[in-house]
Amino acid sequence: MITDDCINCGACEPECPNTAIYEGGVEWTIDEGTTISEPYTIETGETVAPGEEREPVSDEFYYIVPDKCTECVGFHEEPQCAAVCPVDCCVPDPEREEEEAVLAARQETLHA
Ligand code: SF4
Ligand code: SF4
Repeated sequence: MITDDCINCGACEPECPNTAIYEGGVEWTIDEGTTISEPYTIETGETVAPGEEREPVSDEFYYIVPDKCTECVGFHEEPQCAAVCPVDCCVPDPEREEEEAVLAARQETLHA
């Protein structure tokens, strides 16, 4: 997750291998930066269509789409957004701790 310490510098966005990071106020889609081409069930239980524009998680700050974040598992040794953030505001969400196996499975699904 990105906290409200974010200074909207944009450094993290191009680093994400899953295109899980969006600028505040910008709609996200499940297929951008992934191979998803069929309807996809997100963690709320809703099914989203490829290309369907979804409501921004934040209107003020850059944000991470949890359904697209694998904590960089499958690509890098450490979260790339956290590595480049100048104010250390890309942090694990304490309410959404996930096992590495879950993250790896998501990576495989997003990039089948
Ligand atoms: S941890 Fe990795 S996959 Fe998750 S948002 Fe940051 S760069 Fe993207
Ligand atoms: S790198 Fe950090 S401060 Fe810059 S936009 Fe991303 S989360 Fe915000």
